[in-house]
Amino acid sequence: MKSFETKSVQTAAMKERSIQPAVMPIYQTSAFAFSSLEEMEGYYEGNGTYLYSRTANPNTDALGQTVAGLEGAPCGVSASSGTAAILAGILAVVGSGDHVLAAEDVYGGTFHLLKEELVRLGITVHFADFSKIGEIEQVLIDFPEVKLLFSESITNPFLRVEDIAVLDGLKKHYGAKLMIDNTFATPYSIQPYTLGADMVAHSATKYLGGHSDVTAGVLVGSKELIRIAENRIVSLGMNLSPFEAWLAVRGIKTLALRMKTQTENAAAIADFLKGKAEVWYPGLGAIVTFALPEGMDIYRFFSSLGWIKIVPTLAGVETSVSYPYGTSHRALSEEEKEKVGVTKQVVRLSAGIEGAEDIIAQLGAAFAN
Ligand SMILES: *Cc1c(COP(=O)(O)O)cnc(C)c1O
Repeated sequence: MKSFETKSVQTAAMKERSIQPAVMPIYQTSAFAFSSLEEMEGYYEGNGTYLYSRTANPNTDALGQTVAGLEGAPCGVSASSGTAAILAGILAVVGSGDHVLAAEDVYGGTFHLLKEELVRLGITVHFADFSKIGEIEQVLIDFPEVKLLFSESITNPFLRVEDIAVLDGLKKHYGAKLMIDNTFATPYSIQPYTLGADMVAHSATKYLGGHSDVTAGVLVGSKELIRIAENRIVSLGMNLSPFEAWLAVRGIKTLALRMKTQTENAAAIADFLKGKAEVWYPGLGAIVTFALPEGMDIYRFFSSLGWIKIVPTLAGVETSVSYPYGTSHRALSEEEKEKVGVTKQVVRLSAGIEGAEDIIAQLGAAFAN
């Protein structure tokens, strides 16, 4: 008879082989056991897959591979956040002394990462207006140290659709790599890897997860680059937890259904807003940005939105609005905000999966108030 102490540690472990779950379970374990020393040594010789969850875990692998499949890329790796995935992608290509060239209108958090953090690592970052090819090319001519071009497939908050084929031509000509953040478009709308991007980053916190209940990131690309990025993620501790990976994979199962409805709703909302506000909607994706007319009270508008949630994020199944001036672009100086056009009147709406008529009725009530 074992002691109380022993019994409490040796809990009822069921033989894994006898259980066949209908969906992939959560491998909520920090490490994996081996049946012999030979087997453990075999891992280091490349004969086994799992050792320690920071280095690899079935759930985080499933997320990377699923997104790679959707993006048409050979390999993928997950990271603890979209920011971590972007950092891993950058560090897979550049190091101290190298330069990065980024679009000036990237997501606020990414802008901060590029502008404030990379400099500590000895990396120089240039920003350019990516809607002007001449401006991009001038930086590439002036700074041959540029090893990486970075932009977003659909930018935030004004939803400029990046011409990835043009960037592909430029990066090839100047011997750099191209990374595209595809968070806003998702592979449902745009697949940057198939258009020439070397790496595609995602904040799975947004549409891939889709339910505003997970913080996660994914990076996909060539086998060679993803292997290096994966090493950075492992060594710098930017790995994703099994549970978050599992939630993101679960979310992706309904990505197509959600994107279809959310995109249709966004188009209907953009139509409704025309004439009431200045509207930005590129005809794809599920975000609609608009600027209230001068003189209309933005605080009053937000307070009149009823069930439409005010959140500093996007992409959930529920319609929500955010305020770029005070949240995503808050860290930017007044001058930087003005340069990218984020005024106090700008609202970013993320269309949910509710009935379009209900969303429009609620927005109508806010305009009428
Ligand atoms: C949210 C977001 C990020 C950052 O993702 P986190 O998961 O919050 O780190 C990066 N890029 C875009 C376009 C985003 O919307």
